[in-house]
Amino acid sequence: MNCDVCIIGGGAAGLMAAISAKTASPEASVLILEKLPRVGKKISVTGNGRCNITNKRADVSNYHGKNPSFILSAFKQFTLDDTERFFEQIGTPIIYEGDKGYPASLQAASVTDALRFRCDELGVVTECEQKVCDIKKQGDGYLVITDKCRVSAKALICSAGMLSGGEKLGSDGAVFGILKNMGIKTVTPSPAIVQIKTDTEYVRQLKGIKVDAFVTVKDKNGNVKRNDFGEVLFCDYGISGPPVLQVSGDCENGDIITLDLMPRYEENTLFEALLLRKKNLKNRTCDEFLSGFINKRLGQVVLKMANVPLTKSVDALNNKEIKDVCRILKDFSLFVRGNGGFINSQVTKGGLLCDDFYDDTLMCKKHKGLFAVGEILDIDGDCGGFNLQWAWSSGFVAGRAAAKYTER
Ligand SMILES: Cc1cc2nc3c(=O)[nH]c(=O)nc-3n(C[C@H](O)[C@H](O)[C@H](O)COP(=O)(O)OP(=O)(O)OC[C@H]3O[C@@H](n4cnc5c(N)ncnc54)[C@H](O)[C@@H]3O)c2cc1C
Repeated sequence: MNCDVCIIGGGAAGLMAAISAKTASPEASVLILEKLPRVGKKISVTGNGRCNITNKRADVSNYHGKNPSFILSAFKQFTLDDTERFFEQIGTPIIYEGDKGYPASLQAASVTDALRFRCDELGVVTECEQKVCDIKKQGDGYLVITDKCRVSAKALICSAGMLSGGEKLGSDGAVFGILKNMGIKTVTPSPAIVQIKTDTEYVRQLKGIKVDAFVTVKDKNGNVKRNDFGEVLFCDYGISGPPVLQVSGDCENGDIITLDLMPRYEENTLFEALLLRKKNLKNRTCDEFLSGFINKRLGQVVLKMANVPLTKSVDALNNKEIKDVCRILKDFSLFVRGNGGFINSQVTKGGLLCDDFYDDTLMCKKHKGLFAVGEILDIDGDCGGFNLQWAWSSGFVAGRAAAKYTER
């Protein structure tokens, strides 16, 4: 097969790149090679099936990698307004819940369908069940070798994603490996937006409890790496919930994750509040000391951590014990022992080093005519629609630039 623009991977960024290339150069032949039986499989499961398509606050502070500012040119060329207009035009207008954008249908599958239909309408050719196994230079262009065919292309857009979500949703990392072998520098991939495994002595007893907390990740020396607020979920392996997923990309084994279970209180006012409780509840035993104040089971675990016997009378609590309880409520510390792995993660940290690409076209500096978009690059966004916005903006920019490149 021959084509002008060959796109490896029909995910969010690849479908957008195809639409952008064909819109910029209607005469150009644009081919998507997709490994799975259909395109956009991952899009269809995003946002718990609702597809958190974008975020009103998307700016550089929500992105991570060696060089997050790399996103700026693409975001200037394809803005939030452009995103809204684009999805309106293809039939899935965006509505907002707070800052988070969703298709009005609240159905992720409708986003996949709309992108797929637009590709068909524009004459993009899609070949599914074509797993790309190798890429070679061929004259001014590229030879793409799949498990079933060979494709000659003037320009190549690599949108094969990374390992998050597991192979059934997309990438096995093979294309990343091929590009690494072609000399493109990389940053070691690791899972992000993922559950955290911790010491389980206490969290296992709290399984299923959800509590609002201020979550902070600190390194071994106590330096704060990242924090976030929201509902934490205790699990038998550790912790999950929105703020945990948000900080997970910065967690390494041996780091300490602390939960401020009483963010409304300073430690001294919390102490005063507990002294008042002691006075009011003096006829009860300590197993009831914190019930009504925080989740009962969590309160009992906090007392155990402070070495307070649950059978002790509240009246007999001394100031040191109350101070210890305060400290644990404000600084419930757990050692990080791992994470849920790529299969349970929503995004991959690391990827192709952005410095090897031009930020205004996303073309590789070492290999002219080869572009990379979406998650395969060393850019990962926070939870909340930021990763898909990167896929849309980067896909749009590279699609247009690749189409222009083939007109030389
Ligand atoms: C469960 C889950 C929920 C998520 N929810 C959200 C959300 O609500 N909002 C948000 O912003 N982000 C969300 N994300 C992240 C977001 O989905 C990704 O960042 C985004 O889809 C990346 O787009 P991409 O096109 O770069 O890669 P992908 O969407 O992974 O697409 C890559 C495509 O390339 C194909 N491919 C891979 N290797 C080959 C090969 N060798 N040959 C041919 N084809 C190949 C894959 O099959 C796939 O179709 C979620 C992720 C997961 C896993």
